[in-house]
Amino acid sequence: KKITIAIDGFSSTGKSTLAKQLAKELGYVYVDTGAMYRAVTLFAMQNNWVSPNHLDREGLIAQLAQIQLHFVFNPELGFGEMYLNGNNVEKEIRTLEVSSLVSKVAEISEVRAKLVEQQQAMGKEKGIVMDGRDIGTVVFPDAELKLYMNASAATRAQRRFDELQAKGDSVTYEEVLKNVTERDYIDTHRADSPLVKAEDAIEIDNSHLTREEQLQVVLDLVNE
Ligand code: C5P
Repeated sequence: KKITIAIDGFSSTGKSTLAKQLAKELGYVYVDTGAMYRAVTLFAMQNNWVSPNHLDREGLIAQLAQIQLHFVFNPELGFGEMYLNGNNVEKEIRTLEVSSLVSKVAEISEVRAKLVEQQQAMGKEKGIVMDGRDIGTVVFPDAELKLYMNASAATRAQRRFDELQAKGDSVTYEEVLKNVTERDYIDTHRADSPLVKAEDAIEIDNSHLTREEQLQVVLDLVNE
């Protein structure tokens, strides 16, 4: 029997790595909701509605209907890539610039309402694993399995730094750590749908687990 798996937690806790492994192992659809918030942020950047010291909420809200988001499954990667108004933005949404602005955009209630509605529509069919900050609390409060991922900020920053470096991004570890800590703060303190552990979520601290160990722990939960 297929179920809905909701994965929430701080940035760079390995949510997407686990979600992708699970989707592959179980034959489920993986939805990366962070990619959707990132794509809206990219759209806002392109229209000069957001920059490090400025946010034109009204400008963005007025044009929300112009933002079309969808995932196109890439069989080589084994998951869907993010498309913004027909363009593949998978690379552009992963830069540190987008990472440093996305939490501001994600605070806007109108943005959240639009994305949550689309996420719930994607979840109509069971056999989905979705990761984000509000999946177990807001998007799928009735999910059969909810996970809340955690790891120390230093561990998370190191992982994100390694990833960005591998892509040739010339960032420093300190910049990444600052970004991770700032996003943690905004994501847990915003008024609309702050990141909290759902009461019935199972917490997983993977600071000392390998990917394989973590996958096994969760597969055992799925099969319970
Ligand atoms: O998961 P990822 O780090 O790509 O998410 C980027 C940002 O998008 C988060 O820091 C958060 O501000 C926002 N987000 C959110 N709700 C979600 C997913 C992401 O607010 N469900």
